[in-house]
Amino acid sequence: MPRTLIKHADWILTMDPKGTRYRNADLLLEDNQILEIGPNLDAGPGPVQVIDATGKIITPGFVNTHHHTFQSLVRNIHIANGLKLEPWLMVVYDIFREINPELVRAGALVGLGDLLKTGCTTSSDHMYVHPQGTQRLTDVEIEAAAELGIRFHPTRGGITIGRSQGCGHVPDDLVESADDIVADAERLIDTYHDTSRFSMCQIGLSLCWPPFETDEIVQRLRDLALKRNVQCHTHLGESQGELAISMERHGCRPVEYMRRMGWFGKQFYFAHCVQLTDEEVRLFADTGTGIAHCPNSNMFLSSGVCRVPDFLEAGAAIGLGVDGAASNNASNMMGEIRNCYLVNQLKWGSRATSAEQVLRMATAGGAQVLGRDDIGYLAPGMAADLVLFDWSQFSYAGGQNDPAACIVLSGDPRMVDTVLVNGKVVVEHGALTTIPERETAHWIRKATRSMLERASVRQPALRDDL
Ligand SMILES: [Zn+2]
Repeated sequence: MPRTLIKHADWILTMDPKGTRYRNADLLLEDNQILEIGPNLDAGPGPVQVIDATGKIITPGFVNTHHHTFQSLVRNIHIANGLKLEPWLMVVYDIFREINPELVRAGALVGLGDLLKTGCTTSSDHMYVHPQGTQRLTDVEIEAAAELGIRFHPTRGGITIGRSQGCGHVPDDLVESADDIVADAERLIDTYHDTSRFSMCQIGLSLCWPPFETDEIVQRLRDLALKRNVQCHTHLGESQGELAISMERHGCRPVEYMRRMGWFGKQFYFAHCVQLTDEEVRLFADTGTGIAHCPNSNMFLSSGVCRVPDFLEAGAAIGLGVDGAASNNASNMMGEIRNCYLVNQLKWGSRATSAEQVLRMATAGGAQVLGRDDIGYLAPGMAADLVLFDWSQFSYAGGQNDPAACIVLSGDPRMVDTVLVNGKVVVEHGALTTIPERETAHWIRKATRSMLERASVRQPALRDDL
């Protein structure tokens, strides 16, 4: 088995349940897992790859619990900025009608590639747009993730109610039948779902938006998830508008609707969870249901602030998510952890989360949300998913005090030097090792512009961005 010895780290923040930190220590890997952590380690006989971590902090790789990578091509659109969730959906859904396999690949490469470059080693994805006539879009994402070398949890979603049935922002050509969604989800589970330890791909199921789903699809996805032992995911409790629609269509709050439909438990996790009552917060903790906290998206769409201190106090499983790039404008986990700290400080004052707690949400918390016990913290027998942060650079001089605070409060993507996923170096000196960045960026730009040109036939204001 090939061994890798990472030597002389200034700090190793394991994020294990005891919060163990090592100063001036080494980390020994065997193939795709951690063998030992401690000072002055010996790699033993045989060939060994040595990585010098002098001047660096090592943490587990971040886990991103919510994304729509295809939205990476629908960002910085001037007519979508400054809107709340519901009017914003009207603008972006019309552009989503152009989605095809080439654009899904482009979005996955830039979305997941940027996650890797910002210290993220595992990502969920929520792929719910499948324009009529397109096929195998989730397959394209899975192929892109494998090419980049990121651990991937795609969820196959779909939309069952469109404009003609009362869901005003969804063009009818994005609607699929429950039969088609369930059949494709089963095919994906059969083809890609790997439950082995250190699995690089696990399939989940997802709904687009509970206020506008048919009872049939909500029930069938739950039943399939329980039958095949896979996860279920969607948005929940994001906005005041969602509350109003849920009351009108289902006669109850969104959380209550999903509870009645059997969508609470350890196999389920929800993005946002902003508009919740005390009782609903307790329901999450009592049932082990996961929360994907998406601070940047919640700020961008003026949705509100998730009750993070309450969730932590209740012992709920909570991680961080960048959400779709269309409502974040980046897939930057360093930006997410910094803004998580700041917005919680602004909202909750002395009850706000510490830098250490934010790092825990971004690592071990995210792993718990995705139902993984082999990633999220560093210890012998855990996956070799880790990040080397170079805090010896000029920008951080004077701030090299508490290492967790330096990453969360002063950190930015420049700090990410080396990233390993499953024992393989996928980012070196801040650059992706698996794809040519410049050429790929050029191709993605061309594909995006052609998509916006086509969409501008329906929305002429998009031409201002071309
Ligand atoms: Zn989302």
